[in-house]
Amino acid sequence: MITTDLNTFYSNMGIDSWLLELSKKTENDLRDRFHNIDKTAEYNQLKILKAMQDNRVSDIHFAATTGYGYNDIGRDTLEKVYADVFHAEDALVRPQLISGTHALTVALFGNLRPGDELLSPVGRPYDTLEGVIGIKETRGSLAEHNITYKQVDLKPDGSFDYDGIKKAIGPKTKMATIQRSKGYADRPTLSVEQIGDLISFMKDIKPDLICMVDNCYGEFVETVEPTDVGADLCVGSLIKNPGGGLAPIGGYIVGKTEYVENAAFRLTSPGLGKEVGATLGLNQSLYQGLFMAPQVVSGALKGAIYAARLYEYFGFYVRPDSYEDRYDIIQAVTLNSPEAVIAFCEGIQAAAPVDSFVTPVPWPIPGYNCDVIMAAGAFVQGSSIELSADAPIKPPYTVFFQGGLTWYHAKYGILKSLQSLYDKKLIKFDQQIK
Ligand SMILES: *Cc1c(COP(=O)(O)O)cnc(C)c1O
Repeated sequence: MITTDLNTFYSNMGIDSWLLELSKKTENDLRDRFHNIDKTAEYNQLKILKAMQDNRVSDIHFAATTGYGYNDIGRDTLEKVYADVFHAEDALVRPQLISGTHALTVALFGNLRPGDELLSPVGRPYDTLEGVIGIKETRGSLAEHNITYKQVDLKPDGSFDYDGIKKAIGPKTKMATIQRSKGYADRPTLSVEQIGDLISFMKDIKPDLICMVDNCYGEFVETVEPTDVGADLCVGSLIKNPGGGLAPIGGYIVGKTEYVENAAFRLTSPGLGKEVGATLGLNQSLYQGLFMAPQVVSGALKGAIYAARLYEYFGFYVRPDSYEDRYDIIQAVTLNSPEAVIAFCEGIQAAAPVDSFVTPVPWPIPGYNCDVIMAAGAFVQGSSIELSADAPIKPPYTVFFQGGLTWYHAKYGILKSLQSLYDKKLIKFDQQIK
């Protein structure tokens, strides 16, 4: 006979009853946090809904264009919707922006000219930006175009080095790049409020400084976005939060009209700008993904906090911890051994809707000085709003994981990861549940 009992189903799916008990207690402990996450999602859902209604989104906007893509009203209206959601003047939202790195590259190259200087007041940027800026010597970098770079690190306690930033801003400083999420670095993620403080400080020194925020992984985690607190440009990837898991490709750049247009002239051609760029039938996924994004982000956030609480329970160092406020969806768990990292990723992979039968193994990846293991069983390749994990195989053996299109899937993935560690005798369960 078919059972409709949830615990029995979990047991059939390989989760032990002690773990389910612990999970139930954990979920109960996190009730208030989950409630607050739901409230943020509710607010952001209304914000997006209103933008779609105000712009009279209709099924004609889902029609495909090809070739040059002149008069693609679906594309143009989607950009108005994005501009409204971010309370910005203008937006560039395109499948031709092939990733977050590319969107950031286009925003930087579009707005910087030879002789200008770029400043990062929040320390080292995301790995892939090192090549773009030329921190790491790379063909075609900003550095090769005679655009220099300065960096001011965060202070050891994670706060801004205001003295250092003041000294770093000079006559050549044209643009500042502020990364909201810690990404895979060891520093706190910035809240939108902190970003606002930083922008005000820099604009007091230099009012015409272009302040760009790398918003990757941060969208819809709060009820405000960087453009609400003075950011001139805000940039991200559609295979992360704002694509809601449905966008199969794309990036966005929102902000002041002049700077968005500069980016558009770089993406297409000077003189052509936003007027061209066929959408090839992708518009519906981009609209619907944005519509779903608040709900998807809320599931990912719940998963991150739930994982933090469970891994804390087993004595692992987690960052952020399960009590801190969240400003992005990334969870880091330090597992202390390569075996545990591999077991964790095997659990996440085994929980996936796609490629659950595959075993992830550590592999040398260009640009890293050690092997890296990745778990991803995603509908969209490389999508990290879907449940995914990766870890460099080196001390202290920290795994970074994020995403989950639904809270239920994130929960199951995390339970699978714990079960995998338990089955390999890498964690013990002998405590009484208090
Ligand atoms: C993911 C990410 C990027 C780059 O995005 P890709 O789509 O992987 O190129 C840049 N910055 C941050 C903080 C990110 O998390």
